[in-house]
Amino acid sequence: MAAGMIYLDANATTPLLPEVLEAMLPWMQGRFGNPSSAHSGGRRARRAVEAARAQVAGLMGAVPEEMVFTSGATESINSVLLFAQQEWPDRPVLVISAVEHAATVEAATRWQARGGEVRRIPVDSQGRLDLEALERALEPGRVALVSMIWGNNETGVITPMEEVVRLCHAAGTLVHADAVQMVGKVALDLKAVPVDYLSLSGHKMHGPQGMGALFVSHHAPFRPLLVGGGQEGGRRSGTENVAGIVGMGVAAELASAWLAENGPAALAAKRDRLEKTLLQGWQGAGVHGAQAERLPGTSSICFPGIDAAAMLIRLDQRGIACSGGSACHTASLHPSHVLEAMGCDATSAACTLRLSLSRLTTQEEIEKAAQEILKSARHIAEQQQNFQKIH
Ligand code: PLP
Repeated sequence: MAAGMIYLDANATTPLLPEVLEAMLPWMQGRFGNPSSAHSGGRRARRAVEAARAQVAGLMGAVPEEMVFTSGATESINSVLLFAQQEWPDRPVLVISAVEHAATVEAATRWQARGGEVRRIPVDSQGRLDLEALERALEPGRVALVSMIWGNNETGVITPMEEVVRLCHAAGTLVHADAVQMVGKVALDLKAVPVDYLSLSGHKMHGPQGMGALFVSHHAPFRPLLVGGGQEGGRRSGTENVAGIVGMGVAAELASAWLAENGPAALAAKRDRLEKTLLQGWQGAGVHGAQAERLPGTSSICFPGIDAAAMLIRLDQRGIACSGGSACHTASLHPSHVLEAMGCDATSAACTLRLSLSRLTTQEEIEKAAQEILKSARHIAEQQQNFQKIH
């Protein structure tokens, strides 16, 4: 990221914290050892991995043994879904929501390609899950797994996971939560919300990229996707990425401290301030999912009449990094499936920006970004008008 850039794309990835890098460096510069080796170097690496496991588990009230390190949430999600389909062939149904991340969408497509059935639970115009539709989908004895995104990466809308778990367990179905955007941003206690499986990612909480974890509740069955040397208690083979694991552990520890210091409320206040300025400054602007419970740092905001793809380029030139709310930036006019599921048409989706803040985002950056976004919107509106006059 260029110096001076205002980074409002934290749902895509977050910068590595200096403390995380500092903890990782020794494991990349001379301190090494295979955690499976019996000699002192190996044992030291093993201790580091187990300390990190306790740190990550502690972030969500889990027991360390329930945490399996992976290469990222995509691997975690795929592992659980593949396992469920193989394990319960007499239960052909997978239930997901209509607003999942691509990792789940594609794993569900594969589920179907292998002869399974996928039921997609709709959301309302605010992105809120239709719990009655979920209840109807939970046909006794037919559903192998329910997999739901907990905090939406595009809109920030939060799934009422406690209620989802209650309904699923009452119907005898196990639940997997894609908690990538929740972990480290919202306080989680898996004793209070007893999901059976949960996926998380290191780089969304200021940890390293290419690191993730899968929580497997001690009472839930699991068979690994990757087999080999039997690492991670036989649940994920392959020599551990010790530096990455150590970094993820420290990132989890720092996130726990931030959560305890009321970090989410402060972050939500910054996001609200940003939204207020933008909504006041642009007539007709609207926030997707504004009435729903949302992640503290995410804002999906529509600027009617303004091409978001042009905005992204302009904002990038003006030192602001953010994302679009539709696939328009990949030259497609289709709205994202998330906005589409909320009833948003292609035109509005093409005018939507996703602004995602991290706990490093400052008030000053918010003020500056809001002014730049409004200025850019005015600039693009003018350009669009001139273009229309000529043609
Ligand atoms: N699930 C959600 C909600 C995400 O936002 C992401 C990443 O953007 C993923 C899953 C995949 O995570 P990873 O990049 O660690 O594989």
